[in-house]
Amino acid sequence: MENITNFINGEYVEPLTDKYLDVFEPATGKVYAQVPSSGLADVEIAVDVAQAAFGNWSRTSMEDRATILNHISERLHERSDEMAVYESRDTGKPISLARTVDIPRAITNLRFFAEYVRSFEVETILDGNNSLNRVSRSPLGVVGCISPWNLPLYLFTWKIAPALAVGNCVIAKPSEITPYTAFKFGEICVDAGLPEGVLNIVHGPGVPTGDALVTHHDVKAISFTGGTDTGKIIAGKVSSMFKKLSLEMGGKNPAIIFSDCNYEKMLETVVRSSFSNQGQICLCTSRILVQDNIMGRFRSDFIRKVDDIQAGDPIQDSTDFGAISSEVQREKIMDYIALAKSEGGKVLRGGLLMNLAGRCENGWFIEPTIIEGLGPLCRTNQEEIFGPVVTLIPFKNETEAIEIANSTEYGLSATIWTEDPEKANRVSDSVESGVIWVNCWMVRDLRTPFGGMKRSGLGREGGDDILRFFTESKNICTA
Ligand code: NAD
Repeated sequence: MENITNFINGEYVEPLTDKYLDVFEPATGKVYAQVPSSGLADVEIAVDVAQAAFGNWSRTSMEDRATILNHISERLHERSDEMAVYESRDTGKPISLARTVDIPRAITNLRFFAEYVRSFEVETILDGNNSLNRVSRSPLGVVGCISPWNLPLYLFTWKIAPALAVGNCVIAKPSEITPYTAFKFGEICVDAGLPEGVLNIVHGPGVPTGDALVTHHDVKAISFTGGTDTGKIIAGKVSSMFKKLSLEMGGKNPAIIFSDCNYEKMLETVVRSSFSNQGQICLCTSRILVQDNIMGRFRSDFIRKVDDIQAGDPIQDSTDFGAISSEVQREKIMDYIALAKSEGGKVLRGGLLMNLAGRCENGWFIEPTIIEGLGPLCRTNQEEIFGPVVTLIPFKNETEAIEIANSTEYGLSATIWTEDPEKANRVSDSVESGVIWVNCWMVRDLRTPFGGMKRSGLGREGGDDILRFFTESKNICTA
């Protein structure tokens, strides 16, 4: 049994609480490690050392900070295979996904911000009366980064890289459900020469660990990714403290499929957007809106393609559908499938727990599930399930498609399938989502804003948006 420890001031240390939680391998349902359940005192020490490190780190030139981030990215690249195995073991995701998406994207996040920060220079604005405005942007100090379990290292690095690049010191709290790659990341930072105290990783559950970070007086900003209910609690806590807050939260993402789409490309992509990572990506499609004149064809082709998905032990190269990341999440998903049935939904495929033989016989697997026959306003079509469950919903025309797409309280992402560019533009402009993909899914240029509207988010990550979030602007006007 391995003991995960906190990473504070460049060293691995036991939590002062001396309390630990079990870490499970979802594919087997077995405990394989223990993670600290850190308390207020652990967070306080981390903040103190981060504050002590801030002076030097914030005065280090942008060029030198970028060089260190690049070194971290290179060390991570060297350890890619090993990190992919850890990520697959911790989350239940197929090793192929960890190898091709999670770890490469974590490497890219670090490399991207190391480069991109160089263009984030002082801005000057000369007005008509010959006054010169110089806008300077300085780091905030110590900031908190809280990340979820579905894309552990991918989202961890997506937050810490921009925060560090602009000169902040960071206290990061990974999900207690999937802490292992963040644990190993400390070694990589030491190897890459990141100064002590600049990044500190404190493990533990939302309460008390996350809460201690969120409410710490000297933590100047919180960047959070997770569920909307958690985001709401955090927003309530920090609002009276005047901290900067960025929230990336849940979704109920529609795919809107018009009959004039590129059918084969759409079909292949919608299977992926529905069931990648067992539907546990915040950007996964959960409501499939199909124009009624192609619903029959789509239904049978989609079921056929879903039947071909290779479910199995995540560690096998051939597996493309693995386990659900936690037992709690597995139960929540099964409750939603039961709810869908009670609301009158017809289960076209799946709907059951999957029993695998051998090593995975006690693992947490659910079949890819397709449900039809539910109105857009029922709970199944309104609430985030965050698992391998999609619903099919017919629509007649553009107006109705937009109305259904916008009928939830969420607004994270949407995909639109049509070969008519004007229609694509009209629908994109009308759908209330922070991220819209036309005839594609999960294509990302990291310079672009990323985030949700309505109950899906507050603020944006990516490019300039996140660099601005992690800095304080000052305008100096000279006339
Ligand atoms: P969660 O809200 O339970 O936990 C997220 C993180 O917050 C974890 O590290 C957790 O320990 C911490 N936390 C929990 N309670 C806290 C509190 N009171 N104070 C401080 N920290 C606290 O979410 P999850 O179950 O880990 O992740 C799944 C959710 O994340 C889904 O809703 C999914 O849509 C969302 N998500 C959103 C995005 C996005 O970019 N919008 C990306 C990935 C996941």
